[in-house]
Amino acid sequence: MADTVNALPHFWPVLQALPTPVLYKEHSRSRILANAAALALFNSESNSSPGDSSLSLADIQQLPLYNADNAKRYDLLHNPLLMALSGSEMQLSLLVGDSAAPDSRRCYQLHSKLVALSFTLHSSVLISLLPAAGHAQVISGQLPATDIAELEEALAFDKLISLISTELINVQDQQLDQHIHDALAAVGEFCHSDRSYVFQFTPDYTEMSNTHEWVRQGISSHQAQLQHIPKAALPYFFSKMAQDYVFAVSDVSKLPAEAAAEQQEFVAEDIQSVLCCAMRSDEELLGFVGCDMVSRRRDWTSTDLRRMKLVGDMLAKTLQNVRYRQSLQQMQQQLLAANNELTQLANQDGLTGIANRRQFDHCLNNELKRCSRNGLPLGLILLDIDRFKSYNDHYGHQAGDAALKQLATVLQQQVKRQGELAARYGGEEFAIILPGSNLSACQQVANNIRQQLAQLNISHQHSDIKSYLTVSLGYCSSIPSIQDDGLQLLKRVDAALYQAKKSGRDQACPAQ
Ligand code: GH3
Ligand code: MG
Ligand code: MG
Repeated sequence: MADTVNALPHFWPVLQALPTPVLYKEHSRSRILANAAALALFNSESNSSPGDSSLSLADIQQLPLYNADNAKRYDLLHNPLLMALSGSEMQLSLLVGDSAAPDSRRCYQLHSKLVALSFTLHSSVLISLLPAAGHAQVISGQLPATDIAELEEALAFDKLISLISTELINVQDQQLDQHIHDALAAVGEFCHSDRSYVFQFTPDYTEMSNTHEWVRQGISSHQAQLQHIPKAALPYFFSKMAQDYVFAVSDVSKLPAEAAAEQQEFVAEDIQSVLCCAMRSDEELLGFVGCDMVSRRRDWTSTDLRRMKLVGDMLAKTLQNVRYRQSLQQMQQQLLAANNELTQLANQDGLTGIANRRQFDHCLNNELKRCSRNGLPLGLILLDIDRFKSYNDHYGHQAGDAALKQLATVLQQQVKRQGELAARYGGEEFAIILPGSNLSACQQVANNIRQQLAQLNISHQHSDIKSYLTVSLGYCSSIPSIQDDGLQLLKRVDAALYQAKKSGRDQACPAQ
């Protein structure tokens, strides 16, 4: 139990992998999760134990945070992290660092956002701390201009990915494609590639299809042709991906001999360099994200690889979440349908298909209460087939069943209004509930039944009543009082049915 309570959110690996310091707090819990980058930033400033992903409020309170505009230390009441954690959405620059050594303070852009997680159904706060670009030069005053440009580019990429990953946490199925496309555009631009894409494998890893693609202006797309590619067509690529989870080729012309099929494919698409990283979730290889160089070659850098891996991990988690959500919805629908079917079966008479005794009892109870509340009469009819034993004896049990079904159809036709119900009460006895019907309306329905049955003319040569199958009926109607229960009503109508039998059958008698 404790494990579930302390479990990390399912998207935690994505936040954990971000180079941007991120704090995450669910509204319903006191725990504050800090990713590795945030711990690295705060551990040097606080006493929290390394290795643990959570920070306490006390840890946050102790952090030396300064206003970036006037370099004044925030007091407890105005601590922006505490305010953000309690749900205030904010964006501001703040300095984090040592009060004794003002030069070592570093400037961060704080973004906090309230996010409603569709899975856990409660809102959470997500705080990211991006090193503020304007102050990057202060931190690394001695860095050459090219390093600064790289640093700024890295910051821009991290910021973009952090934004996309925040969006992906909440992504709805119908927006998924757009978000994947955004992530591909980001990775394409930042890796200076000409094309970036997502391929997904079939669950048995025998086939792959290009599901999403971004192409730089002027570069041709091949997505349409890259569908249902069998493993046998690109065996080197499939085995590399399953083994290393990475496929990085800076010069396609230098691929080994066993990669002849892959080389042919790359040449056909004008690809000079290619970089692909697996999308994995729970050890399952879902697919890969990758990019191509068309107009020139590129020696892939460790930064390119890190970015591609980050996007691969992020998309893998998202795809897995969407799959979980879809299979959960599917399961819920199946359960709901099965449940409806069960309820239906539990309330139905197996032979005639009309309501059974169970549904009758339930309905009678409800209608009693409803009529008593509204001061309406509740009508009830109980009927029994005459001489049915001898019908069975002479025509056989199957013919008896068929006659029961025919009678049920006649009864079903009598109930049309809301709340009315025809049910098989047991054996060859049936009952009809008629809320809002007075005694004469009940008598009318009883006579209709007798007439309809006479018209059906189900031959019963061994009856001493008529030459066809007949029924006897008892009926009653009264405005129920709050204390009335079904038993009293049934007793009265049963007595009326008995009276009808005693008086010669094939007739309807009112209750006294
Ligand atoms: P009465 O006019 O007094 O009602 O005489 P009856 O013969 O109809 O009454 P009794 O209670 O003696 O017999 C009822 C018969 O209904 C006996 C039973 O075989 C038959 N029955 C009850 N349920 C079923 C059923 O599901 N299918 C068939 N075929 N017969 C049934
Ligand atoms: Mg009977
Ligand atoms: Mg009978």
